[in-house]
Amino acid sequence: MGLVGAREPGVGSRARGVAHRSVRLAAIAAAVVPDVDFLWSRHNMETHSLGAAVLAGLAVLAWTRGRDPRLALAVTLAWASHVLFDWLGSDDTPPLGVMALWPLTSEFYFAHAYVFEAISRRTWLPNFWSHNLGAVAWELAMLGPLAVLAGWWRTRRP
Ligand SMILES: [Zn+2]
Repeated sequence: MGLVGAREPGVGSRARGVAHRSVRLAAIAAAVVPDVDFLWSRHNMETHSLGAAVLAGLAVLAWTRGRDPRLALAVTLAWASHVLFDWLGSDDTPPLGVMALWPLTSEFYFAHAYVFEAISRRTWLPNFWSHNLGAVAWELAMLGPLAVLAGWWRTRRP
C-alpha cells in the first residue's frame, strides 16, 4: 500500500489502518455503485455485469498508476459481489436477472434461486416498509456471519 512505509514507530501501523479503511470504504462504495443505473433507467444492465466490475478495477489501477493492485482487486470483487447477489436474488420486473456477462453478451441471467428478496420501490403499497425491512433483515442474517468471519480472519493475521 502506498501509505505504508513510515519509519517512526506507530506511524506505520496508523498508516496501515488508514489504508485498510480506504480499501474498506472503496469496496463498500463499489458494492453499491452498480445500482446507480436507476438514475438513467437501465437497471440490472451494463453496471450489473462482470465486465463493469473489471472496468472499475482497471479504473482504480489506472487512477493509482498501478501502485495499488490490492485496492483494484477489492473494488472488482466488491462490484462483482453485487452482480452475484442480484443474480441470486428475486426479481419480478422483466427482463429478469442481470446482464452479467456484458459486454460479451447482453443476455440477462437469473438464477431462480430467490436467495434474497426483491427490494420494493412501490412506496404506495401498504407492505412497503415491512417487506423491505424483512428483506434487509434476511440479507443481514445471511451475510452478517460471513462479514464477521471475514473480519475475524483479517484481524487474526499479523
Ligand atoms: Zn443491483
